[in-house]
Amino acid sequence: MDLGLQGKWALVCAASKGLGKGCAAALAAEGVNVVITARGAEALEATADELRRLAPGVQVRTVVGDITTEAGRAAALEAAPQVDILVNNAGGPPPGDFRQWEREQWIAALDANMLTPIALIRATVDGMAQRGFGRIVNITSAAVKAPIDTLGLSNGARSGLTGFVAGLARQPRLAGRNVTVNNLLPGPFDTDRLRKTVEAAAQAQGRPLESVWDQRRLGVPAQRYGRPEEFGAACAFLCSVHAGYITGQNWLLDGGLYPGTF
Ligand code: NAD
Repeated sequence: MDLGLQGKWALVCAASKGLGKGCAAALAAEGVNVVITARGAEALEATADELRRLAPGVQVRTVVGDITTEAGRAAALEAAPQVDILVNNAGGPPPGDFRQWEREQWIAALDANMLTPIALIRATVDGMAQRGFGRIVNITSAAVKAPIDTLGLSNGARSGLTGFVAGLARQPRLAGRNVTVNNLLPGPFDTDRLRKTVEAAAQAQGRPLESVWDQRRLGVPAQRYGRPEEFGAACAFLCSVHAGYITGQNWLLDGGLYPGTF
């Protein structure tokens, strides 16, 4: 299927590794020029080189910076001549017990996982509507649908974004101008973040890493972790010209882990 995206420009935030990188790669493979961001230059440049090899015809631009800051967002937005596709992503907040979290921790989580995506949407969405094409995909978490008790900061901040997006996506001035806004909800995907989480759990339980890794894997009906490429493929489809009638949705990608009928 030709996704009809050749020559478009995408800003993919937090994309040197993991799910963001998966999205950037899938879009670049479809002929989309990409601006990718991350805090560390080395991994970001290595990813940019990979993307250039994968899709020699597309432009790949890199912006080093923290996307949760005003300066990081401004630099990212400046790097693209226009943003047709926005993939919002940033690192997730740390786990813990809410009794230990002060206002500062809450504000950091809200900044990263709610207010940053909203600021980037605000900066790009009206231009998309004027041009009659726009795709916004927010990487959130399966925890929005099935909260994980130790991830209260994530549950709270991402649910705030989800509620905002539900209202925004349904505005006729966006939906009626071929601008869609959707969320992708990852379950367990094999990325650095998941490996670190499992390492921490193994250490806390005093068990070998492999045993905790396999136990969690076998708890997924698909009997495996998701691959960033699969995540990227779903993102690219949502960004495609074929997905203009899909907006305000929350797509769970979790190998069947969520147990509900709906
Ligand atoms: P990852 O650690 O593998 O990659 C994160 C990427 O984001 C890296 O490129 C890192 O450099 C970049 N990054 C992080 N914070 C940034 C910032 N402030 N500014 C710019 N770049 C930044 O993580 P991942 O597994 O790809 O996770 C991506 C998002 O999805 C996170 O918010 C995570 O909490 C969420 N998530 C992941 C899973 C999973 O199983 N992997 C499950 C649910 C939710």
